Amino acid sequence: MDSTAEFEAIVRGPDAYRLARIALDMMVRHKVWPTPLNYELWLRCAGEPRSPLALEIERMAAAGAPFTDATCEVLAATHLPKSRLTDEIRDAGDQLSRELDTVSRAIQAAHRSSQAYGATLADATSELSEQNDTGSLKTIVSGLSGATRQVEEENRVLQKQLKESTNEVHQLRDHLAQVRRDATTDALTNLANRKAFDAELHHAHQAAARSGACMTLAVLDIDHFKRFNDTWGHQTGDQVLRYVGSVLGRVGAAPRFAARYGGEEFAIIFPGEKAAAVHGMLQDVIQEVASRTLRRRSTNEELGAITVSGGVAELKAGETAHALLERADAALYASKRGGRNRVTNAQAAKGVAAA
Ligand code: GH3
Ligand code: MG
Ligand code: MG
Repeated sequence: MDSTAEFEAIVRGPDAYRLARIALDMMVRHKVWPTPLNYELWLRCAGEPRSPLALEIERMAAAGAPFTDATCEVLAATHLPKSRLTDEIRDAGDQLSRELDTVSRAIQAAHRSSQAYGATLADATSELSEQNDTGSLKTIVSGLSGATRQVEEENRVLQKQLKESTNEVHQLRDHLAQVRRDATTDALTNLANRKAFDAELHHAHQAAARSGACMTLAVLDIDHFKRFNDTWGHQTGDQVLRYVGSVLGRVGAAPRFAARYGGEEFAIIFPGEKAAAVHGMLQDVIQEVASRTLRRRSTNEELGAITVSGGVAELKAGETAHALLERADAALYASKRGGRNRVTNAQAAKGVAAA
């Protein structure tokens, strides 16, 4: 049974109301908001109490780990891969793209064979028209000429239709590529959006866990951004978000992966990189941002320094993606508590907390 069918069986099965009550009770106990996503997670958990999702939730609850929006998104990306929009669009898109390729190739083959057919008939016509000694041959020749002209005309119509169809296939494919980009891109900054980030974190985490390679995650948040918006207005705030997004987009160029994680929060995945190196590099980046004089586009007024705080965490052996995200988040908040405009390495933050 695929995951959609499993979920249907829970939602519409004989136990539906009992399971819904169990799910809601658990959500109250675990202090999670009854959003559609969280409800789906806990309902699946109630319906399949031995599933990896339910065991993970149980383990997190036992460890006292809070179920924040971020951790729930990671749970969803990890355990509900088939129900996530990004994956669905990607799968449907891949399939459609393959089919369009097949259709496009078939159209072109038909186009070539119809041209060859027309050429063969035209040759036969010219050969026969040279043999003008019998009446019956003349009849054949004129019949064949008529048929040839008709086939040539049909060929022209067919070729026109084939050309139009081929153009349409190409337009469809471009449109599909655009839809896929839109579904995974944040419109303001052009970075990946949170859904794309969750999916990428899941894949990067799996790859690192499989290969044993290191991997570091960074989360960054603009300091006192509410105050900035209150002072300069939302539109100027958007300008700053675009600027910070462009700086982090350059830092997070492939094979790294940068995303706008939420409002004024960004995240970058660094596959194969150690936290100490990432920490040093991000310190330099945020110092560069802080020292830059930004001006309001409409009036050219100086906006004052924009500062950013960050947290980095390197994946530990056996650690889940959401635990890694939690540690990076905790390091970010250590930076905030420590005075902002700084980056904290989760290892160091742990040392401070223990001291
Ligand atoms: P801190 O240093 O603790 O992070 O303080 P903060 O004010 O940045 O944090 P807080 O979470 O209190 O406020 C975040 C602000 O970010 C509130 C909201 O107005 C702003 N914000 C979120 N999304 C957008 C956006 O798309 N555009 C603009 N202009 N502002 C946004
Ligand atoms: Mg902030
Ligand atoms: Mg924030």
